[in-house]
Amino acid sequence: MVNKYSQILYTLSEFLKDYPKLDISILEAVEARKNGKHFSIEEHIKGMIFSLLSNQRDWGAIYENKKVIEQIFFNFDKDQLKNIDYTYLVNALKSRKLANRSINAQMQNLKYNIEVFEQIEKEYRSLDYFITALKPTAVAVLFASKESPYKLKQMKFALVLEYLRNVGIDTAKPDVHIVRILKRLGLLNKSNNEEKQIINVLEKISLETGISVSKIDFLLWHYCSEKFCNICSANPKCSQCVIKEFCNKEEICL
Ligand code: SF4
Repeated sequence: MVNKYSQILYTLSEFLKDYPKLDISILEAVEARKNGKHFSIEEHIKGMIFSLLSNQRDWGAIYENKKVIEQIFFNFDKDQLKNIDYTYLVNALKSRKLANRSINAQMQNLKYNIEVFEQIEKEYRSLDYFITALKPTAVAVLFASKESPYKLKQMKFALVLEYLRNVGIDTAKPDVHIVRILKRLGLLNKSNNEEKQIINVLEKISLETGISVSKIDFLLWHYCSEKFCNICSANPKCSQCVIKEFCNKEEICL
């Protein structure tokens, strides 16, 4: 018998097929890593910077200005970024409305974070080796925990997972969209809504369906995001919902 998870994900996959514009960059990165791609330190810096920029703001403007952002950050050249006055980056982002409320601290600590990456390359030969030696959540703890020598400044657990996804690690970012839809579908409850537990739930769904965690994240997130399908968003369009039969929130479903 086809389980509930498979039915939900298959239905979302069919729905998104006809959607004109999707951000498939994460899926491409995961596929590339699966096929043996090595991610350079510049690509890791890029992944970290896009994760930082997504913090506490809508992803739409960041997504639409990817090329501009690449230029602002010198195509993620580590030496240029380590030597630039961080206020240049802050001003360049602010003037294009690409900043967020932590932007000063984020840019001020960019040099430090790049040096953490360099240190890891010295100790472990490559960042790729470091981030693939353990489970994504364990790697995220190493980058996010204050006690860790590899702590990245301004990067909390969810942002680290986003960075890891950006460099092709098969994981998810437990952001507001994912948490909300998992709760509405009855897949998360009060006792398992910590970020690590959310990833555990997604990993369990992945095991039961054979669909990768990053693909599950991709389907759920695009279905919810205001920038994309905007169906299961803060104000859900339940009358248009293709998975409402699985929803536990009957009281808000039209
Ligand atoms: S029925 Fe409404 S709340 Fe439930 S999953 Fe669909 S859009 Fe979200």
